[in-house]
Amino acid sequence: MLYHSTQNPAHRVDLKEAILRSLPPDNGLYMPDQFPVLGPEFWSNWRHLSFQEIGFAVAEAFFGEDVPAAALREIVEGTISFEAPVVGLAPGDHVLELFHGPTLAFKDFGARFMARLMAWLTRDDGRELTVLVATSGDTGGAVASAFHRVPGTRVIILYPKGKVSGLQEKQLTTLGDNITALEVDGSFDDCQRLVKSAFLDRELSERLNLTSANSINLARLVPQSFYYIHSARQLPEGIEPVFVIPSGNFGNLTAGLFATRLGLPVAQFVAATNANDVVPRYLASGRYQPVPSIATISNAMDVGAPSNFARMEALFGKSWEAMKEKISGYTFSDDATRAAIRTVKATLDYELDPHGAVGWLAAQKWRATHPGSATITLETAHPAKFLDVMEAELGQGSVEIPERLAILADREKVAIPMPADEAAFKAWLK
Ligand SMILES: *Cc1c(COP(=O)(O)O)cnc(C)c1O
Repeated sequence: MLYHSTQNPAHRVDLKEAILRSLPPDNGLYMPDQFPVLGPEFWSNWRHLSFQEIGFAVAEAFFGEDVPAAALREIVEGTISFEAPVVGLAPGDHVLELFHGPTLAFKDFGARFMARLMAWLTRDDGRELTVLVATSGDTGGAVASAFHRVPGTRVIILYPKGKVSGLQEKQLTTLGDNITALEVDGSFDDCQRLVKSAFLDRELSERLNLTSANSINLARLVPQSFYYIHSARQLPEGIEPVFVIPSGNFGNLTAGLFATRLGLPVAQFVAATNANDVVPRYLASGRYQPVPSIATISNAMDVGAPSNFARMEALFGKSWEAMKEKISGYTFSDDATRAAIRTVKATLDYELDPHGAVGWLAAQKWRATHPGSATITLETAHPAKFLDVMEAELGQGSVEIPERLAILADREKVAIPMPADEAAFKAWLK
C-alpha cells in the first residue's frame, strides 16, 4: 500500500517511509492511498471476535500487503495486553475505559503499536533506530514505556525541567535500559526546537537513524480504531453507538472516523472540548481559525491548532457540510468540568478524570436532545493521573492509585541535564 500527503496526493511513499518519516516534507499528513475496508466475512462475525482478533483484522486491512500475518499478529498481541471495558453508568450512558495500560492513558495503544511496527520495519537495517521525542507530559511516558526493551531501538526523551508533574517525570526517568531522559533547562517549545534541529542536520539524522514518535504518526492512529469496533459490539445488537470523544489534537476522533470507513456503523460522533474550542467553532460556522492554546484542568486537550484536522477534512472530501452532519461539537468550562466530577461521583459512584468529565457533559447534552440514543464516552485517562483536581473536588484519598503508578514514587529519577542549546544537544548526541 502507498501513502500520500494530504497536501499533495501526488507525493506518495511506501509504508516504511510513511511511518519512519512520520510527517511528509510538505507538512501535510500521510493517508492511505486506497482506504481499506473490512469485508462481509468480518462484519458477519465481528460480535463474536476477541479484542485481539478485531485488532488483527483492522491491522491486516491497513498493513497486510506490507507486513506478513505472523508478524502483524505478534505486533497486535503485544499492543493489546490489557482490557478496554465498556462500563454502563445509567441507561444509554456508557464509558469506555481506555486507561488500563501501563501509563494509564489511551496513548498506550498507539505508542505500543508504533514501537513494535517500527522495530519490525527496521529489523534488517543492521543498525539501531534512535527515536527522539519532546514531551510536555503524557506522550513521553507512553512512548518510553512502549519502546522499553524493544530490541534495536533507543529512545531519547526531552522534557522541560520543572514543568511536568512529579509522577509524569518518574514515568520518563525511571525505566533505564534503552530509554534516556534529558532534562532540558527551558520550555516545551525549546525541547521541540532541539528535536527539530537534530532532524534538520542531515548528517546526524542519517548517522543515528533518527525517527520521531510524533502523535500524527499513522502507526499511532490505526490501533486506536480497534477499540471503537471492540466497544460498539458491547451494546445490544441493532443499537448504533454515539461516540463522545474528549479531544485535543483530534487523533482519537480521527481513529473513530477510520473505523466507520472500515465499515463500522456509528450513529454520530460528538467532539467534546474544553475552552480550546477551534473545532466546535468550525463545525458551527464553517470557519477554521487556529489560535494559541488556553490552559485548563483537562490539560492534555489544551490544543489551539489540532494536528489531525487535515486528516478529518480529507475524510470528508474537504466539505464542511458533510463533516457537520457526522460530527457535533460541544465545549465546556473548567467550572462545569469540576461540577461534573462531583455530580458523577455523588449520583453514579464513578470517578471521571477531568478529560472524561468533559466528554460526559457532552454525552448528557447529546442525549437530552436525542432521547433513546446510546452514548459511549471515551474515558481517556485514569483519574489518579490528575490527583490534584480529583482531590480538590472529591476530597483527599478519594481516588485509589493503581499499583503501577504508586510504585514509581519510590524509584530513583535518572536524567541528564541539558541546556536549551542546539549545539550542546547535537554534541551530546554525537
Ligand atoms: C492526548 C489526550 C487527549 C486528547 O486526544 P487527541 O487524540 O489529541 O484528541 C485526551 N485525553 C487525554 C487524557 C490525553 O492524554
